[in-house]
Amino acid sequence: MLFNRQSMARRLLSKLQSPLCLLFPEVCHLCGIQVAEPCDGYICRLCAVSMRRLVGPVCRICGLPEEGRSMRGFLCPDCHPDRFAFASARSAVEATPSMLGLIHRFKYHGATWLVPFFHRLIHETWWFEPEVLACDGILPVPLHAKRQRERGFNQSAVLGRGLINQRSVDWLDGVMKRIAPTTSQTMLSRELRFVNMKRAFEVCSASALKGRRLLLLDDVLTSGATAEACARECLRAGARSVIVRTLARGLLQKG
Ligand SMILES: [Zn+2]
Ligand SMILES: [Zn+2]
Repeated sequence: MLFNRQSMARRLLSKLQSPLCLLFPEVCHLCGIQVAEPCDGYICRLCAVSMRRLVGPVCRICGLPEEGRSMRGFLCPDCHPDRFAFASARSAVEATPSMLGLIHRFKYHGATWLVPFFHRLIHETWWFEPEVLACDGILPVPLHAKRQRERGFNQSAVLGRGLINQRSVDWLDGVMKRIAPTTSQTMLSRELRFVNMKRAFEVCSASALKGRRLLLLDDVLTSGATAEACARECLRAGARSVIVRTLARGLLQKG
């Protein structure tokens, strides 16, 4: 509630335009020290560069980063060619505590002013990859209707809408729905996350997916269980291929 009030006040202030902005410049929402602009998502340049972009060696399927590897594709210990239905998963940045804090504000406190910052991270990492450019449809991972009502929006859809304005690609929000009101996965082990997500999604319009090269968009990928369940349904409905792209990559502890 506090954030919502702050957000409303900020929007009102921004409408008063430059003279006031010059007197009271916006401050970065991460460090609280440096000046930050609305077009930067109110995150200053210093904080922005401190985010760990995943542009180094990663597993060619699940996108898990591993230091000391060469850039060319390797498979992490958890992956084999048939492990996932999706062809590849990549994320813009590592889900460090500060990054997760921003995503938490975005999802649970309606801090949508952060979206330009998230877009910048995506642009700097995977948005212009050939595999992404080859996609002809973007599908934000759906939330269950009950959770979306509580939250007021689907964070993946809000993240994606601004991105598709910049590219000729079909926006497939609503083509799939989440039918199982799955509880939070945070406390579950890797294996239980996959069991928990089985049959969690249902395709509403198979014709919209048929023959598509899809990009599944989500905010965070950790075990890959949510993306896997979603990708499997898309392929069952006739999609030609599915890749997964997220803002952040969580590193799940074994267990
Ligand atoms: Zn800062
Ligand atoms: Zn892997």
